[in-house]
Formats: sequence, C-alpha cells, structure tokens
Amino acid sequence: MWMLLSLFLSTIALAEAPTAPAFGHGAAPSGQQLKWMRDSIEYQKLTQQTYRQAAQAMLVEAKKAKKKGWAVILDVDETALDNSTYQLERLAYGVGFESGSWNAWCERRQAAAIPGAREFVTAAREAGGTVVFITNRGDSTTVATRENLAAEGLWADGDLLCLAKADDKAYNKVARRGEVRAGSGACSTGKALTPLVYLGDNIGDFPEVGEEAVDWDAQFGVRYFVLPNPLYGGWERGVTRTLP
Ligand SMILES: [Mg+2]
Repeated sequence: MWMLLSLFLSTIALAEAPTAPAFGHGAAPSGQQLKWMRDSIEYQKLTQQTYRQAAQAMLVEAKKAKKKGWAVILDVDETALDNSTYQLERLAYGVGFESGSWNAWCERRQAAAIPGAREFVTAAREAGGTVVFITNRGDSTTVATRENLAAEGLWADGDLLCLAKADDKAYNKVARRGEVRAGSGACSTGKALTPLVYLGDNIGDFPEVGEEAVDWDAQFGVRYFVLPNPLYGGWERGVTRTLP
C-alpha cells in the first residue's frame, strides 16, 4: 500500500513539475505497462513486424531513388533502444522519471536493442542507405548513446547520431531532419540525402504535416512506421478522441 501511495504522490509531483523533459516522459508507468513491454511476446513481434515492413518499404523506395543519396531516420529511445530497465528501477523506488537519473542511465549504456532494429539498420546499410538516429537525448550523452548503440549492434561507421542541444531549443527534430535533406549542418554527411523511411514511437519522430511534399496521412505503413510505447509519450497529455 505504501508503495502505491508513494507512486501516486510521485506521479502528482511529476505532473506538476514545471520543467517537463522535451521527450515526453510524464507520470511513472505502471508495473503492468512495463511488464507488457518487457515480457510479452506480442510486444516483441509487433516491433519485429514493424521493422520488417519498414525494411520492405525501404527496398521499394530505394529502387525509386536510384543513384540519389538516401537515408533512413530512426528515433533512439523505445525505437532502437529499450530503456525499460530504467523505468523498472524507478518503479521499484516508487519514483518517476527525472532528468538527472535519466542522464545517469544513458551513461550506463545498458539499454537493449528493440527487436528487429538491428536487422533493419543492417539491411539499410547493405542497400546503400545512410542510417540516421535523431533523438532528443541531450548532447551530453553523445558518447554514451553511440557506445550503447554500438554495443547492441546498431551502430556502424558512416551512421549519423543527432541529439538535442542543451542551449538551442530551436534545434528540434524538424531542424535536424532538414539538415539531413539539405546535406549541411551537424546532422548531415555533407551530401543531400532523401529520407526514405522513418521509424519512431512518438509522432514527433515523423515529418510534420507539410514538412515533406506528400499526403501525410497516407505515409503511415508506407514510409512512416510507428512502434508501440506504452510507457510514456505525448499521449499522456493529449486528448485525441472526443466523447460521443
Ligand atoms: Mg522515442
């Protein structure tokens, strides 16, 4: 009972925290949410299924791209790397997300690969694409994030890792995707690349409406592939359904 109460109180404290992290962590997830993600075969198969469909789409789009340079763009947390161990530890202590412990977790380099991610990035490189990771992890964790990705077989020379800059809020994911396309700036190889496929667990991991000259809604399942994340996200604060 005390644990439930302290979890409840910490949830309230977090909900009222004035500085919510940019990447959407709010209230602490429940044990049931965590268990589904960590222990269900269904979660593993969903992520594998999503990555396999993304790989097929990538090969179709790569043929259309012909000799033009192209990229695949992936988010990191709960897309390429599974941070549920961090969440489990926080739950055990009866506390929620906060940025100090989060950055300490990133430094530990102990996040596991999301099922299907390794095969996808390998296939992208073999097909001639550039793998670009765009994450709102802070840039103080650059080395740790890259080493964690490498330890999980997700990183190779030639990949790009583009993090948020602590002192530049305007350098958001839209700006970083723009650099990939333009071929200039820190999030580029120096050559303009066409992003063919995007993967993420948050809607912000995908181009905004109008960012690409395409029918936005029609891209999901074709070029935009969403992974499940029951632990945190913008959905915690969002209301997308109206009552009948
Ligand atoms: Mg994410």
